[in-house]
Amino acid sequence: MNNYGLDIWANDNFIIKNGKICVNANKKPAIIDMVKELRADGYKGPLLLRFPHLIQKQIEKIYESFAKAKKEFNYKGKFNAVYPLKVNQYPGFVKNLVKLGKAYNYGLEAGSKAELLLAMAYNNENAPITVNGFKDRELINIGFIAREMGHNITLTIEGLNELEAIIDIAKQRFKPKPNIGLRVRLHSVGSGIWAKSGGINSKFGLTSTELIEAMCLLKKNKLLDQFTMIHFHIGSQITEIQPLKKALNEAGNIYTELRKMGAKNLRAINLGGGLAVEYSQFKNEKKRNYTLSEYANDVLFILKNIAEQKKDLEPDVFIESGRFVAANHAVLVAPVLELFSQEYTEEKLNLKDKNPKLIDELYDLYKSIKPMNALEYLHDSLDCMESILTLFDLGYVDLHDRSNAEILVHLIAKKAILILGKEEYSADLLALQEEVQERYLVNFSIFQSMPDFWGLAQNFPIVPLHKLDEEPTRSASIWDITCDSDGEISYSKDNPLFLHDVDVEKENYFLGFFLVGAYQEVLGMRHNLFIHPTEATIKLNDKGYEIKSIIEAQSILDTLEDLDYDIHSIKDILNERIANSKLVNESQKKQILGELYLFLNDNGYLRSVDI
Ligand SMILES: *Cc1c(COP(=O)(O)O)cnc(C)c1O
Repeated sequence: MNNYGLDIWANDNFIIKNGKICVNANKKPAIIDMVKELRADGYKGPLLLRFPHLIQKQIEKIYESFAKAKKEFNYKGKFNAVYPLKVNQYPGFVKNLVKLGKAYNYGLEAGSKAELLLAMAYNNENAPITVNGFKDRELINIGFIAREMGHNITLTIEGLNELEAIIDIAKQRFKPKPNIGLRVRLHSVGSGIWAKSGGINSKFGLTSTELIEAMCLLKKNKLLDQFTMIHFHIGSQITEIQPLKKALNEAGNIYTELRKMGAKNLRAINLGGGLAVEYSQFKNEKKRNYTLSEYANDVLFILKNIAEQKKDLEPDVFIESGRFVAANHAVLVAPVLELFSQEYTEEKLNLKDKNPKLIDELYDLYKSIKPMNALEYLHDSLDCMESILTLFDLGYVDLHDRSNAEILVHLIAKKAILILGKEEYSADLLALQEEVQERYLVNFSIFQSMPDFWGLAQNFPIVPLHKLDEEPTRSASIWDITCDSDGEISYSKDNPLFLHDVDVEKENYFLGFFLVGAYQEVLGMRHNLFIHPTEATIKLNDKGYEIKSIIEAQSILDTLEDLDYDIHSIKDILNERIANSKLVNESQKKQILGELYLFLNDNGYLRSVDI
């Protein structure tokens, strides 16, 4: 039975039980039950489910792996982690993360004024805050205020001009001062589609010449004591460990060199983020070549070696991994609205008393297809279809004949695939699958909910929430409800996705899109004005689960207001136009006005009905 690659990407977080995909903890509740409950309460359209226990699991894993490595190598530096807010700033995630991170003194990383202010409000007391990214004087000022408030904050300098601004502002403000970090520009580079943050030509960081200059500036302005950390970040989703090891070697040596030059409070190396997530649901697409414990071991081993060699203190380690912490906590669930060839059923056949010869042939193929001839008949039927389309273009067969042919070919393909089963998927059959692929129309927007698929061709695991005890027989492509042809996850010949042959007029069919908790939400685009879907937090308990803090998707009026429309004037105009209509009477006007107001106050996703 198809397990949708659960063994590859799911990390034991989800399992298949009784044909349903279930959360693998406590009572192992089925996701479909949560969805049914939410839909019964009126939340139709796509749903984003958050699982805080999976945030907790990732945080624990990180701290435990480093604790274990620390013990193994008798590493003396401390381990710290901060969560980079840019990965997901939604309150449903951040508030849970901060609460769950308290026990570990897990901090926050900010890359902008808005994120820094968020960190200042929500960060656990005494947990570290790091600030990266380009800074103006205002942002630096906010950093000073954070310190003055009592936060344990480090401002990481991306360029000398930022250091000059800090020096200037330090003279004007009160006594407490934030710690200063220097981002170093490494010659080692990352790998993978996100690897633009490392390297000599990267957007960020100080060259060795600039580092020396920074040291002089800090000394001259009596700020050297504030200099506590060097920082690098070689990119997100580092799928291979090798570049990280190279970068660590380089950074470790920079650390000891700077300490030799007098930076006596420099105690920490911040490795940035980059811990990779395995997104693939197909073995041949597996990307990550290391585990978290290997990562932790390598980091501490390399830094310890350098410290021993250079007879210096082992540095404290900071990491800023975000994707690894956030990705698996969220699952997007969306209902299938339609299978495009659903009308291709035997009842829809409209055979004439006298059909063109090719149609009779197709009908015979359909009726007599058997295991021993299935592949051959499938080939023959596709040849027939070609010929019929040619005959249609030439005017020799009519639209009814063409329709009959389409239906018959689909019926034959379905039967053949069912008969041949998955074991028999030769390259040939896979190619045929592409031709007979079913297009599933799904009530969601790829632009809103999986922008990295659109922008970076990043795949996310797709799994039906139920029917997993039935073999899926349809090779599938997925279409979202935007009217953009890019809103499609197309059929892949190398890694075909198979879904179930369902009649959505008779039964519901829900798809889960997994690992969407990192980056996707805030990068989501409102193409066609489809907005962030309704979200719910699922807490597991001894009885099963509990649905907490539902945040409903924005209404159409609010969405328009966000675009700076004056919604009062929109309402006034609609009122006036209805009042002026000559096509309906007064009581009808009243009714349609009421209907319009309902729509305006609902979200814009399609309201699929439950069966
Ligand atoms: C983006 C970013 C991170 C987070 O990277 P992940 O790949 O999500 O772990 C950490 N630090 C810095 C400086 C970043 O820019």
